[in-house]
Amino acid sequence: MVRLKEFKDNTKNVLIQPAPSSSKVYIPLSQHIGKPCAALVKIGEEVTLGQKIANVQAQVYAPIHSSISGKVVDIQNWPHPAIGRCKTIVIENNFKDSPSTIHQPLSSQDQLTSQQIRDIIFEAGIVGMGGAGFPTHIKLNPPKQIDTLIINAAECEPFLTADSSLMVEKTQEILLGIGLTAKCVGAKNVYIAIEDNKPEAIKKFQSVSGLRSAVYEHQPNTKNQKPLNTIVLKSRYPQGSEKQLIKNISGKEIPRNKLPFDLGVVVQNIATVFAIYEAVYLNKPLYERVITVTGSCLTNPKNVLARIGTPIKDLIDFCAPVKEKPAKIIIGGPMMGIAQYTDTVPVIKTTTGIILFNAKEASGQEEDFCIRCGECIRECPVGLMPCLINLASEKQLWEQTKVNGALDCVECGICSYVCPANRNLVQSIKRAKKKLL
Ligand code: SF4
Ligand code: SF4
Repeated sequence: MVRLKEFKDNTKNVLIQPAPSSSKVYIPLSQHIGKPCAALVKIGEEVTLGQKIANVQAQVYAPIHSSISGKVVDIQNWPHPAIGRCKTIVIENNFKDSPSTIHQPLSSQDQLTSQQIRDIIFEAGIVGMGGAGFPTHIKLNPPKQIDTLIINAAECEPFLTADSSLMVEKTQEILLGIGLTAKCVGAKNVYIAIEDNKPEAIKKFQSVSGLRSAVYEHQPNTKNQKPLNTIVLKSRYPQGSEKQLIKNISGKEIPRNKLPFDLGVVVQNIATVFAIYEAVYLNKPLYERVITVTGSCLTNPKNVLARIGTPIKDLIDFCAPVKEKPAKIIIGGPMMGIAQYTDTVPVIKTTTGIILFNAKEASGQEEDFCIRCGECIRECPVGLMPCLINLASEKQLWEQTKVNGALDCVECGICSYVCPANRNLVQSIKRAKKKLL
């Protein structure tokens, strides 16, 4: 793991601000791992806030909801932050926010069974909001006995502070979400993992009274459950990678071709846990989320509560004036994020941040020949030899990239970061993974 310059000061300890509702939202039908959804609405149809507007018959997917009330004005191919372009429902806002409900109001949440909680999570369209986009109702229904739940609050990417703000402002709600998550998987040990560069969040979680009762409010038999443990991790990258987190906290190493549940562990991102709280307690589907909008080009960087489908241009305007024209816009963190070709691209369920780089920051250095220094091998957190995968990928020897473990790459970007020859290692590994999957 490496220590990166953080660049978090601009938005650290800044209150979350709700972004103004846009006149139109662009809601893509693909926002999760699995089969893209199909539209349930037609052009011209009126929709309400939180209405389910897309669904599909498949094993792995999550439904999609409207983030505003208004009229469907188009269903078209539109820029997508992760996959280029995608079929997208365009809704014109009537600014009424007329609400929908996803489930009947509950008289008492503690009477919910694990399956009922998972059903609500599914109906709310919740997916892993740390970037993975895996449907949460599936992740919380593992085929094996789980003893450990780890709440991933590391937020180890530079620039991003959305999770950190959420932890400080919504501690009690997050605890209730953790309790629901722990009940779903039946975990006896619950850890919340926070990097040491978030002292306010650590203080909140360590000092909150009734920590144990809040987390286990939903457990019928709590005598075997231990209190929530706040684990303070060193600020290193990629501390928040699932495999790394499990190794650091439980000492267990996930073997190749195995998943965390094979070792009795489930890891859940903090923003996802908050969405679970909102779905169960507030009857609210996942139609908005907190994201960091930052970078040296902006005068007023912020953590904003943004509706899904909001064009990022509108959020940039919300943080204006722009000091200088951005030369590069990244969605996500600078290590794992994706450069965008247009600012019309919308916020989706997995968007964690928007970063605007100026020309100097964006200018990449020229790629040189590999000097066989082995730096990428030394730093790869999953023990790969990125230089070899890169060679095979450049020669389009896809089977060889597989033999070299390309599919185990977590796309953390460290190999590219440390390479003295500026090799585009992670890009070539991503290309190989695309060919193999
Ligand atoms: S090979 Fe993949 S996992 Fe290893 S350092 Fe590079 S990007 Fe990270
Ligand atoms: S870090 Fe760069 S130069 Fe060094 S071995 Fe890896 S690819 Fe080659």
